[in-house]
Amino acid sequence: MDIETIFKNNGREILDHLSLGIYMTDCNRNIIFWNKGAEALTGYLASEVIGSFCFENILMHIDEMGNKLCKGFCPLSQTMIDSLSPQQEVFLHHKDGHRVSVTVQAFPLKDEEGKISGAAEIFSYTNPSTNMQSRIRELEKIAMFDQLSNLPNRQHIESELTLRFNEFHRYGRTFGVLFLDIDHFKKFNDTWGHDAGDKVIQTVAATLRAASRPFDIFGRWGGEEFVGIILNVDSQNLAMIANRYRKLIEQSSIPLDQMKIGITMSIGATIVKPDDTPESIIKRSDMLMYDCKKSGRNCVASD
Ligand code: GH3
Ligand code: MG
Ligand code: MG
Repeated sequence: MDIETIFKNNGREILDHLSLGIYMTDCNRNIIFWNKGAEALTGYLASEVIGSFCFENILMHIDEMGNKLCKGFCPLSQTMIDSLSPQQEVFLHHKDGHRVSVTVQAFPLKDEEGKISGAAEIFSYTNPSTNMQSRIRELEKIAMFDQLSNLPNRQHIESELTLRFNEFHRYGRTFGVLFLDIDHFKKFNDTWGHDAGDKVIQTVAATLRAASRPFDIFGRWGGEEFVGIILNVDSQNLAMIANRYRKLIEQSSIPLDQMKIGITMSIGATIVKPDDTPESIIKRSDMLMYDCKKSGRNCVASD
């Protein structure tokens, strides 16, 4: 098979497999081809743009000074005139509304007689690492944080616990775990509604976040339960810290129907032991929390 035949039979597929954005227009800048890379970079599907003119509110290229290029110095129009292909940094318009910094290069397309019959534009992220890094950060946040409370989620707390255990075994750095559970939360939901209940979770989370020391961490374990990992403490200190949080929660309130509704929490507090595992320390703190429930709630139980 010669190369011409390969291009003839597979050209479209090859172009679609590139991560670069490529689109082609006829002489009137009517879009006739739009590859998968262009879809990924711009958010526009081929089916949405093929048949329209590229200057019609699609990419709306601007330069870094904010000058509109589509109706003035358009790389596609220019290359059809001078057949040159300079690289240019422009900001294109993403379908979601934001601007994307891309490097574009246009070149003329010729027919069998060598006459210019259109143009193609190739474009890619100007700074791929910046775009990738911000995407990775976004995904990390989604994977590690609970959306309602904006606190670290259970998986995040579990991996923090594993790190703390490594430090404990290697350097003997002790730590404590707090298991916190909102009292009578079902009744609160039943009385005030689920949205008001969500507000309670957010209020508790805000208090825990605001009151914690920079090296301690609180996360949402699930439902109305939270777990805190408290560093550099002994058993006595941990119980004092737990009581401080308990009082802060007791003194916060949820504004509802012109009233201020109070909430309380029961807290189990325990210090790491030599033969502990992440599972055993969580289980012990959870059981201590249940001792609080049995003795009337709104208190701390520690060992
Ligand atoms: P206790 O004092 O013994 O802990 O009683 P409780 O009512 O707090 O405990 P229970 O486990 O019976 O009920 C927990 C309730 O928490 C039930 C569930 O509907 C509610 N809940 C769990 N997650 C959420 C949430 O994300 N939002 C709201 N609004 N409610 C939630
Ligand atoms: Mg519970
Ligand atoms: Mg509860």
